[in-house]
Amino acid sequence: MTKINRFGNMMPSEEQKRRPYLLDRTPFQIAGNLYYVGNEWCSSHLIDTGSGLILLDVPCASGLPGLLYNIDYLGFHIRDIRYIIVSHAHTDHFGCVNALVHRTHAKTFLGAVDAQDMREHADRMEAMNQNLGVYNETFSPDVELQDGDIIELGNTRIRCVFTPGHTVGVMSHFWDMQYKGKTIHVGIYGGAGFGSLSRKALEKNGLPLSMQQTFLSSIDKVWNEPVDLMLGNHPFHNDVYQKYMRRCRGEEEPFIDPTEWHRYLQELRDCYSEFLKLSDEEIERMYASSQLQAYYDGCFESDGGEGEDTPGECDRVS
Ligand SMILES: [Zn+2]
Repeated sequence: MTKINRFGNMMPSEEQKRRPYLLDRTPFQIAGNLYYVGNEWCSSHLIDTGSGLILLDVPCASGLPGLLYNIDYLGFHIRDIRYIIVSHAHTDHFGCVNALVHRTHAKTFLGAVDAQDMREHADRMEAMNQNLGVYNETFSPDVELQDGDIIELGNTRIRCVFTPGHTVGVMSHFWDMQYKGKTIHVGIYGGAGFGSLSRKALEKNGLPLSMQQTFLSSIDKVWNEPVDLMLGNHPFHNDVYQKYMRRCRGEEEPFIDPTEWHRYLQELRDCYSEFLKLSDEEIERMYASSQLQAYYDGCFESDGGEGEDTPGECDRVS
């Protein structure tokens, strides 16, 4: 089997770009008040705080119908979305924020450094928006987050940690969740892809070469965070669907794994240090084709088939 670099080129296929609904899948409860409402490409997490809903990252505008369907499927109402938190200023995490705000008036959050970058590089942002499909829009966050800021709503208190590298203003998020009488530490690393950190890409975006070191320092910064349940802002970062399928097959709590955080960050470090040794040509070759399809190979074998709901025990929301 070819080794998958989950931090490399994981873009949807041309077919999936033309027909974005092919990326959609049935949503599910991860644990407690935490739900997966994203698609096969981009994660979106919903937290039911008891005083309204928090959405952590939203897909591109082309993923909006799927997101709305997923929220509805789980029995929640769009109008109850109070906060939308965006991990970093890339279109595949904020593309439909404006569309959601238009109907919900939800309050939006983004790291202050990324918010400033968005304002100062409107052209670069617009190019990225257009490259990732129609209707994507840059947004103006209501709250510009600083390192250590807390976002609180109902039963949920999210700590924001500044972890630049993937973009200049990435924020990682950590919070405690009560589940089955225990406190579960939830954590999500805000931006892990490193394609934007090649010498060429940094030059193109007018960023200093020192960003390459910044990326590593950010991993070190959160290394000691206690994380029992690791989320990813792409489903292929924390094997969301594979875990869901494992649970369908009867495994108790595949999402709770206190060893995953370090395994993940170490894999990220290792892949990144390999990446830094590559020449421009090798990097080009590495990013020439997507590994997304290969990554999902066999993952959904035992369910109803591509895109189909899998009714029964598997879909039960408690
Ligand atoms: Zn990104």
